[in-house]
Amino acid sequence: MDINKIRSDFPELEKKVNGNPLVYFDNAATSLKPLQVIESISGYYSGYNSNVHRAGHRMSALATQAYENARSKIAKFINAKHSNEIIFTSGTTESINLLASIFENSILTDGDEIILTQMEHHSNIVPWVALKEKLKLNIKIIDIDENGNLLIDNPDEIWSVKTRVLSIVHSSNVLGIINPVRKLIHSAKKRGIITVVDGAQAIVHTGVDVQELDCDFYCFSGHKLYAPMGIGVLYGKKSLLDKMPVYQKGGGMIDKVSFENISYNVLPYKYEAGTPNVGGAIGLASAIDYISEIGFEDIFKYESELLAYATDSLNDIDGINIFGKTKDKDPILSFEVEGIHNYDLGAILDQFGIALRTGHHCAQPLMKKLGIKGTTRISFSFYNIKKEIDYFVDKIKIAINMLR
Ligand code: PMP
Repeated sequence: MDINKIRSDFPELEKKVNGNPLVYFDNAATSLKPLQVIESISGYYSGYNSNVHRAGHRMSALATQAYENARSKIAKFINAKHSNEIIFTSGTTESINLLASIFENSILTDGDEIILTQMEHHSNIVPWVALKEKLKLNIKIIDIDENGNLLIDNPDEIWSVKTRVLSIVHSSNVLGIINPVRKLIHSAKKRGIITVVDGAQAIVHTGVDVQELDCDFYCFSGHKLYAPMGIGVLYGKKSLLDKMPVYQKGGGMIDKVSFENISYNVLPYKYEAGTPNVGGAIGLASAIDYISEIGFEDIFKYESELLAYATDSLNDIDGINIFGKTKDKDPILSFEVEGIHNYDLGAILDQFGIALRTGHHCAQPLMKKLGIKGTTRISFSFYNIKKEIDYFVDKIKIAINMLR
């Protein structure tokens, strides 16, 4: 990996904050964007901006081709069997809400059980808890041990006769822990349980092969994957989505409309009502090209080195407690500093140009389980370097001295 070349692709890395170079360690919230992605989006808006699918003119044909090429590229990227299994959404949150909405009107009935884990992001909790109230669902939680690992000695013992859905985060945005989703899905499938994976974090660092995972649904956001905000994906098995009810209603998702009757379009359009985010899809395709050129093998290896280096450096500082200890981790490091509020720490580090995140990270049930209100979180990308970690360690020591 040519880190200097990679860093020169990300214009925001040239920013200065208070005269200090920006150290961007907030990648789990959203990644910076490479020029190639930025140019692909401006290329669409300045060169062939047009609505897709519904016009015969040249610009619309170009836009439609680029939009559908993006879908095919994403299908290949996650190894989906068919490109019509790729539904464009606004992000992970919409993908999961879409599923909760269509499950409510199809596979779920009163008294059914849904399995989540203790480390879910709110976007994989709130839609199900809202349904629980409507359908009297039982929500069962897979607990974690003191290091943050899921307690699943024997997955076959998790399910009951009422379990209909397993919805699980692939890797935690707080702990970085990569969950053994393959093992859980394999066990769930033996019982005919529908499996949903929140891949918002995992796909960024390791990629995903949905056929190998054999999940029914996989959700992710473009903006964490070097693409713009407002574009995301719901992957779903065609055999299931074909049978599921529709979600939002309007133009594009219909076949025939009269005031008496409506028939619906085929996949994937059935789930894409209204004008889609064409520029976003084009940006996502360009981000996939960018990542693919580097390759996940090198990305994961390099980011793991950064994680190990940062973990060792933080462990050397008195009073720092790291959450999430395991072998298989994405490059996300959450910690607390004894006696210091994470907001105060974050505010001082911001003065030094270090962008990190503090708080509950949209995972309040996990915070409750850990017995804390929030953490300080640093998260890495392949454009980060050890020198930035050294700078961060130096400045966090200063911040701790100031606050003690
Ligand atoms: N799940 C996880 C694990 C996440 O980290 C996030 C984003 N922080 C989401 C879901 C929600 O993603 P988005 O806000 O892009 O919809």
